[in-house]
Amino acid sequence: MSTDPTTTPPAGPSTELVRFTDVSKRFGENTVLDDLSFTVDAGRHVTLIGPSGSGKTTILRMLMTLERPDSGTIEVGGRRLFPADERQRREVRKDIGMVFQQFNLFPNMSVLRNVTEAPVRVLGMSRDEAAERARGLLDLVGLAAKEDARPSQLSGGQQQRVAIARALAMRPKVLLLDEVTSALDPELVAGVLDLLTDIARTTDITMVCVTHEMNFARDISDEVLMFDSGRVIEAGSPEKIFSDPEHERTREFLGAVL
Ligand code: ADP
Repeated sequence: MSTDPTTTPPAGPSTELVRFTDVSKRFGENTVLDDLSFTVDAGRHVTLIGPSGSGKTTILRMLMTLERPDSGTIEVGGRRLFPADERQRREVRKDIGMVFQQFNLFPNMSVLRNVTEAPVRVLGMSRDEAAERARGLLDLVGLAAKEDARPSQLSGGQQQRVAIARALAMRPKVLLLDEVTSALDPELVAGVLDLLTDIARTTDITMVCVTHEMNFARDISDEVLMFDSGRVIEAGSPEKIFSDPEHERTREFLGAVL
């Protein structure tokens, strides 16, 4: 048994947080996910890689309840997200936060208000308490001085930092990251990835990421799932997937993106 602190698993039994069982999704004639099953344990960082159109974003959007599966079940923390009635789905959905490619901030609200809005409306938190939490998070993402600014007054990197603070303000158990740097100018990418790497290392939040930033994936992931045509064709540690992939499709994909 290893005593290396970087490879020793956390104490206690692992707790499964996300479970997809036989999930299928079609858009018209296009079968995007085909009997997909996978699990993510609490506190783990899992990255989904694979060619464009292989269904990765659809998986995150289902967890956010922005899409629904045609068949199969999705559970979070042992509770059904699909199939489930609307009331249960709204409850389970509170455990999930997402950062989108295009930030999706509320343009007519200040930075502070962007971060406080959901805790007030969805969690019923008082404005004062939500503002206190939001200021702590804006400090964490390096934007304490910008709380009164509008999103349009910020750079893309700053807007994405606000979006990260906004997602964390709900204290989700699972944070979904969907290509969060692909809309940024190249010089702003590293700062956002460093922030997310810090959050991955210093918190116990579970992360499910879709990214083409393979160095970031290698740095933060406990597990990498390689998708092709709506199925996981290979899964393993980043060391294994990036250095010694089993599957020809994985080798081709990594050859094209690395
Ligand atoms: P990835 O994230 O791996 O690039 P996506 O999950 O975004 O893949 O998309 C998978 C497939 O589903 C693509 O062929 C895409 O065009 C299609 N798709 C995604 N969303 C919709 C939608 N709302 N309506 C129709 N087709 C969609």
